[in-house]
Amino acid sequence: MQTVSTIFINGEAVEGERNPFPVINPATGEAFAQCPAATPEQVDQAVAAANAAFKTFQHTPDADRKAMLHRIADLIDANADELAQLVTLEQGKPLALAQMEVGAAAGWTRYNADLDVPVKVVEDSDTRLAELHHKPLGVVGSITPWNWPLMIAVWHIMPAIRTGNTVVSKPSSMTPFSTLKLVELINQVVPAGVINIVTGEGGIGRAMTQHQDIRKIVFTGSTPTGQDIMRKSADNLKRLTLELGGNDAGIVLPGADIDAIAQGIFQTAFLNMGQTCAALKRLYVHEDQYEAVCSKLAEIASQQVVGSGLESDVTFGPVQNQDQFNLVSELVEDARAQGARILCGGEAQPGNGYFYPPTIVADVSNGVRLVDEEQFGPVLPVIKYSDVEDAIVMANDNVNGLGGSVWGSDIEQARSVAARLETGTAWINNHAEVLPHCPFGGSKMSGFGVEFGEEGLLEYTQPQLLNISRG
Ligand code: NDP
Repeated sequence: MQTVSTIFINGEAVEGERNPFPVINPATGEAFAQCPAATPEQVDQAVAAANAAFKTFQHTPDADRKAMLHRIADLIDANADELAQLVTLEQGKPLALAQMEVGAAAGWTRYNADLDVPVKVVEDSDTRLAELHHKPLGVVGSITPWNWPLMIAVWHIMPAIRTGNTVVSKPSSMTPFSTLKLVELINQVVPAGVINIVTGEGGIGRAMTQHQDIRKIVFTGSTPTGQDIMRKSADNLKRLTLELGGNDAGIVLPGADIDAIAQGIFQTAFLNMGQTCAALKRLYVHEDQYEAVCSKLAEIASQQVVGSGLESDVTFGPVQNQDQFNLVSELVEDARAQGARILCGGEAQPGNGYFYPPTIVADVSNGVRLVDEEQFGPVLPVIKYSDVEDAIVMANDNVNGLGGSVWGSDIEQARSVAARLETGTAWINNHAEVLPHCPFGGSKMSGFGVEFGEEGLLEYTQPQLLNISRG
């Protein structure tokens, strides 16, 4: 497959001035292409181009920016096959899931195109007219991870452009190609310098975080990196949206209809091989239904076909990278050593590629690393409880607070439990569902700020109060 071999600065395809680096296909463990690598000087050039473009782009009529985003969405659709292939090659997910990612990328772009930036009339009296407007910030730095590379880039870039900012994008060096292709497409629509991209292994993200001419960083990735970005952003008081790690709990209430909820639990725990920040990562089940839930989940897990995402019958792809694969194996072995029961999976698949089958782990509790830490992989620990109050305490007993869920037939009871979860989102009879119109963000160490909806759009703006005196 042909991959984009340049970065983009000021609307131009530019050679990276460092030696290119290999990008691994997680299904083979082998490099499939070389990615261009930028220098810190090229980061400066990209920021300078974005800064120059901002001077005029911020004044582009609203209707023009809406039309631009619609044209970008059409280009994503027109290049959907290539984008989906790239996502599967670099990320590993089954092609059908990559196609969904591309479809969602186009859908999110159209949703942002149609969003309006509100003007709030705060006072309209004989004395004054006070209106709250929202102005773009300037250059936005977008730093993205490797789990949903195309979709998360779209989540960052589209609201930024929609509101009149300009962007420098830095994708994960493990999954750079779908974002490089996206930026190539966006450049066919927007004026030069509005979107720029710099790729490189290590150092590029830091150069952006410390850059005085970047006004905001939107970051999705690990909590330690988010903390580093926050520290380094202090110098010029960058605005931040930080979407960080999660270790989401799900609580199955006593008397739940197991057949009705088991597929939903499985799918939302193992979405993208569990490599989703808001996947269900710990499941608390009442003792009366514990064995039944465990065996049902193990049965569904055993039906998965594990293999390369490019093979048509495969439903379950590899873990994205060696480090993540090692972490998952390590945490399962640690749980096993502490007496956990591995109901299915629990052993890496022999051969090349980072294949780890869906794994259900029973007889674990809080205090075991697999439960306490974000394992970000294809494993679900199932924890027994005897009192719903205890389940709530255990669910909240974590530094993370991205999402949480409650599963059961009594919606009023589920609602009262959901209200007590210390999370940015609480789902009932679902998990991990994100929607373009529903604000999404973390609490506690999972970050701050929201993405999506009007609230997410406004994170790319600076409020300005207009006060017109009427004497
Ligand atoms: P990181 O947070 O290390 O990397 C995410 C992005 O940040 C990459 O583009 C990376 O660039 C960049 N980056 C790394 N260090 C810095 C820095 N100091 N300043 C600015 N940018 C930086 O995540 P990993 O990919 O290493 O994954 C590690 C863990 O993060 C996972 O195990 C998982 O727990 C969590 N994670 C959470 C995600 C989420 O959606 N919330 C997504 C992915 C991971 P480069 O690749 O070039 O190093």
